[in-house]
Amino acid sequence: MWFKLDYLTIYEHYIYITIILQLSKNQIKMVNRMKINPQRCVGCALCLPYCPEGAITMSREKKAVINRDKCIECAVCYNSSVCPVDAFEIEKLEYPRSVREVFATVYKTHGQTNVPGRGTEEMKTNDVTGRFKLGEIGFSVDMGRPGVGVDLVDAEKVTMALAKLGVEFEPENPITFLMKDVKTGELKEEVKGERVHSCIPEFKTKIERMSEILDALKEVSQKINSVFSLGCCIKLNPDGSIPEFVLQTLKEKNISYYPDAKTNIGLGRPLAE
Ligand code: SF4
Ligand code: SF4
Repeated sequence: MWFKLDYLTIYEHYIYITIILQLSKNQIKMVNRMKINPQRCVGCALCLPYCPEGAITMSREKKAVINRDKCIECAVCYNSSVCPVDAFEIEKLEYPRSVREVFATVYKTHGQTNVPGRGTEEMKTNDVTGRFKLGEIGFSVDMGRPGVGVDLVDAEKVTMALAKLGVEFEPENPITFLMKDVKTGELKEEVKGERVHSCIPEFKTKIERMSEILDALKEVSQKINSVFSLGCCIKLNPDGSIPEFVLQTLKEKNISYYPDAKTNIGLGRPLAE
């Protein structure tokens, strides 16, 4: 089995399914950048376990140093206040490196989309605007995890594979904003060298294309050096049951699931049919 359903949520009108996918291991504004002041660092190494990316190491001179390629600018090291001598410092950082911070800090609002976090709430928690119509299926590809991260070139492999199937990318999603062309899924040249904690390409398509989407994701999963989980949002049948087509497709793909990991207490109701 190449992936399994981790949990499935049944809303009043929608289901949201998350699939944990095991993969091969092989804003354009000034933001902050993390650095360590070597004059202050006393080499205690207390900060090393706080970095989710393993980007902090000790030099031969017994000073903590940050690997710039690995660092995702999450500021966990700084915000933890673990350093006894306040050696962590923040300095201004410019685009395109600034995208690292955008995707690492979920409580910050994206400067261009005005959406906080890495994806949109509509997809994952509370679809109240009727984004996903009857006969449509929404997907979120939740790429990267703490300690794993994701290179944006790998995110691009996924978006380009999906674009070939003619999916409709969510315009308010931060990854869509970084695309050079939503028809090809290609990202802007200047961000391709960036690495982020996590990103969540979101899109929708006709429900009949579910099988093709899953096949395409399975194929591209072998070409990236990260992990992702897959979320599906589908409108339920009038009686609250899951569309048979969805269940049949999951069965054909040998995807198992258990419908009890998330609970929606019904605060959101679709405003559109
Ligand atoms: S900002 Fe985040 S990724 Fe970078 S060194 Fe600090 S904890 Fe590690
Ligand atoms: S916690 Fe501070 S003093 Fe200790 S190694 Fe890290 S940066 Fe240096």
